[in-house]
Amino acid sequence: MENCLFCRIAAGEIESNKVYEDERVLAIHDINPVAPVHILLIPKEHISSLHEVDESHTELMGYVQVIAARLARELGLEGFRVVNNSGATAGQSVFHIHYHLLGGRDFRWPPG
Ligand code: 5GP
Ligand code: ZN
Repeated sequence: MENCLFCRIAAGEIESNKVYEDERVLAIHDINPVAPVHILLIPKEHISSLHEVDESHTELMGYVQVIAARLARELGLEGFRVVNNSGATAGQSVFHIHYHLLGGRDFRWPPG
């Protein structure tokens, strides 16, 4: 996906502030943080959104949560939120699936 921002970041073509990387997942600091901790968890495989996820992605998507949990522990986050925006009406702006790991402040529920 040559024009996909997160594919290009994962390929190292665009700079990012990396928090964690392995062969399947990349974690970077969000360029426009909405919390003291705002990390994007990005599977390297190009999947547009959660709309496209099926049983073939079970292991990968579970793995993303394992990484989220590990980072939250390493960062000592007391409470944290893991968010996926799927579709433009839900706030998705980059159409390569990712989860926001948010922490370091209080969050309200329900969200706006
Ligand atoms: P979405 O709105 O799709 O759920 O989240 C996309 C996120 O990507 C936004 O929070 C936005 O600030 C972040 N973002 C957009 N462009 C870049 C970029 O070039 N680098 C980084 N690190 N984050 C970006
Ligand atoms: Zn992509």
